Amino acid sequence: MPTAPQAAAPILSLPSRSQRAGSAKTSPVRDLLALTARPEVISFAGGLPAPELFDVEGIRAAFDAVLDSPGVLQYSTSEGDPGLRDAVARRYSSDGLPTAASDLIVTTGSQQGLGLISTTLVDPGDTILVEEPCYLAALQTFALAGARVVGVPYVGDDLDLDALDRLAAHHGPKFFYTVPTFQNPTGRTHDVEARRTIAAIAQRRGFRIVEDEPYRQLRYSGDALPSLAAFAPGHVISLGSFSKVIAPGLRIGWIRTTADIRSSITIAKQAADLHTSTIDQAAAAHYLASGRGELTLSRIREAYAARRDAMLEMLPSALPDGSSWNRPDGGMFVWVRLPEGRDAASALPAALAHDVAFVPGTSFFSGIPDERTLRLSFTTYSPARIREGLSRLGATWGTGR
Ligand code: PMP
Repeated sequence: MPTAPQAAAPILSLPSRSQRAGSAKTSPVRDLLALTARPEVISFAGGLPAPELFDVEGIRAAFDAVLDSPGVLQYSTSEGDPGLRDAVARRYSSDGLPTAASDLIVTTGSQQGLGLISTTLVDPGDTILVEEPCYLAALQTFALAGARVVGVPYVGDDLDLDALDRLAAHHGPKFFYTVPTFQNPTGRTHDVEARRTIAAIAQRRGFRIVEDEPYRQLRYSGDALPSLAAFAPGHVISLGSFSKVIAPGLRIGWIRTTADIRSSITIAKQAADLHTSTIDQAAAAHYLASGRGELTLSRIREAYAARRDAMLEMLPSALPDGSSWNRPDGGMFVWVRLPEGRDAASALPAALAHDVAFVPGTSFFSGIPDERTLRLSFTTYSPARIREGLSRLGATWGTGR
């Protein structure tokens, strides 16, 4: 006899995702920017290093050379490859910031450094201060840590240091996150006086500074500036990366930590991924020791300087009258502000129709966005292609350009 069908088990709703996961914002312009993948589009939107400048031969030789070394295919320590840490420490020290290999923890890109620092320092509900606008994936990391993120505004191209002091006094932040040199998204740099003042405010108000320096070595004009850590050594955690000077696919960065949180960050690193790829670290150390790193960096600097100059020369004819923009001494980005009444996100579809793209600035704000702003990256294309892209952009504004 056939048995009666069993009553279906009641469907229970599954537990929802965490509040933190829900609080990390996705960008509303993401879908539009997906259209920039069309090959005919000249995209100033991405922040990608130029692939033709990767030193493929040198990187291949480094991997070949280390592959037979003992241990490179084995598990390793969470702090990272001793030779690599030593090489990075020597570089800091010769730049005037005494650093021991033991001050450094190798990370899987500096992006992981942001996550490890958040895990180590932030409890849900804690306040952290950021530059306004700020690197988007840092905002996402801080939101996932449950932080309350408060933006410190700029006055023109300078950070509003009085606001930093006031906001620090009011909120008692855990840390201030800054990209002090050639910031993403603005290309702005804090000058020596601003650095000194930021460090003094941190010491006076009792918060830490997280300085994120992936662009520091991409300088094409002007003099190198001291690290914030030189002004307030006990208050500053610095992040570095090979992404912009060797290749982002290596996924190698590091944290230069203060002694008081070193062991906590190491435990967070261990819990995150045990350690960064052993062979990738060994290859990076070998690559630096071979001296090819310096050669590649000077080629990258030379090429990017010409690309920046091509962009800056063309911008007056590519943007509506009344626009303003900065002239960065390095990095990858120029930050544009359109004249009153223009909105960068609304202008993007017309730009895409002309096969050119940019990122509207709104994505980079933690608070109320400035809708007139946009970010242009100048590193991806040759000067001729940049000129072509900007002449397309110039054609998108309609009458009254
Ligand atoms: N910080 C900033 C300011 C960045 O712009 C980027 C990458 N665009 C990162 C961190 C992450 O870099 P990576 O993880 O490749 O080192």
